[in-house]
Amino acid sequence: MKQEELNPFAIAQAQLAEAAEVLQLDPAMHTFLREPMREFHFSIPVRMDDGTTKTFKGFRVQYNDARGPAKGGIRFHADETIDTVRALAAWMTWKTAVADIPLGGAKGGIICNPRELSQGELERLSRAYMRNIARYVGLYQDVPAPDVNTNPQIMSWMLDEYEMLMGHREPGVITGKPLALGGSAGRTPATALGGMFTIREAAKTVGFALKGATVAIQGFGNVGSFAHKLAEEMFETKVVAVSDEFGGIYNENGIAYQTVVDHLNKTGKVVECPGTEPISNKGLLELNVDILIPAAIENQLTSQNADQIKAKIVAELANGPTTPEADNILNDKGIYIIPDFLCNAGGVTVSYFEMVQNGYQFYWDENMVNKRLDIKMTNAFRAVHDMSLSKHVDTRVAAYLVAVSRVAEAVRLRGWV
Ligand code: NAD
Repeated sequence: MKQEELNPFAIAQAQLAEAAEVLQLDPAMHTFLREPMREFHFSIPVRMDDGTTKTFKGFRVQYNDARGPAKGGIRFHADETIDTVRALAAWMTWKTAVADIPLGGAKGGIICNPRELSQGELERLSRAYMRNIARYVGLYQDVPAPDVNTNPQIMSWMLDEYEMLMGHREPGVITGKPLALGGSAGRTPATALGGMFTIREAAKTVGFALKGATVAIQGFGNVGSFAHKLAEEMFETKVVAVSDEFGGIYNENGIAYQTVVDHLNKTGKVVECPGTEPISNKGLLELNVDILIPAAIENQLTSQNADQIKAKIVAELANGPTTPEADNILNDKGIYIIPDFLCNAGGVTVSYFEMVQNGYQFYWDENMVNKRLDIKMTNAFRAVHDMSLSKHVDTRVAAYLVAVSRVAEAVRLRGWV
């Protein structure tokens, strides 16, 4: 049997190829869109606390900026690869297009384990990375943001380094900043909140009430934990299982968000939370629930387990949680997938709002941010859903059709292809 493809960039290219075929995309356009427009590789020497110098490898990939300045996060990860960064930069391109915000797609990364670095080393590495990318980023070029293992403090150091180099203030050069440096209200829960708006629309489409509906969430980080909180607060759904990298917890009657957070604050893990029984990450994915939310890492739904998935809706808050083989199986089973770059577009949408607010130095309250996010996410969901009906394709292909045709139109108008 052919081995299942797990290289994220090969998966991203295969997904694009499927859309290109349905769209009957001009082969020259397809060739152009298959590869990043620009990528930068850096060797970054950093003075460590013990006086030695360690050289880190860093990347920035600007996948496509036809629709506007490139946009995408910076990841610090020991297993980072250029192909992961390329795939994520491609998905950012499709994500900003499907959300219909005037930005392109990018991603950055450094191969490092931030847990092994002191605060001083982390600051020196962050500033050194910004010194390397500074000439290639900017409000009208490419705007980075936090991602895996990077946070508002790291964005603050990078912003400061950039502004020191340029000699002026340019808060919109980076998003995900703390409020004190021009961050947006509502940015932290934005990815999960955007996902909730798409779940609300998908439940209407599939035809079931969210009140009392059962939910399982894989991953209890920024996205997964807010998904739990919001699913409870907004819809009164019953979250019956959550997990993190150490394992999962289950209670058929529902698990209150606050109970998990209190336990997590004490122990650093969700396992052994009072009033729950243990469940494996594998078991969680296969639960008989209405809504399954993968909110952890890539390649969680594969040909190995897709057959066992019982949810009515899979809401992909994580990037790349489903392999193409699993996609086919889930679609054949009639499961409604809210594809990743639609479901998790709330984060970049509020990042875009942050850039807008930085631009006119006037800030909105959280209510205003959330209202505007709802409009963007609902429109994006409708565009994808309508496309899937009109072209008789699954929702992931439909999301690609919407996104790729928007990017291709901008490329054509610019006269590139
Ligand atoms: P995070 O680092 O805050 O949390 C990740 C969570 O997943 C943690 O609870 C971790 O313990 C858990 N996890 C890791 N490996 C696991 C495994 N093998 N099995 C089960 N759980 C595991 O990250 P995050 O910001 O919450 O991001 C989660 C996902 O959402 C990622 O795929 C990310 O790319 C995607 N995403 C995040 C944002 C954002 O705004 N933070 C935006 C778009 C997409």
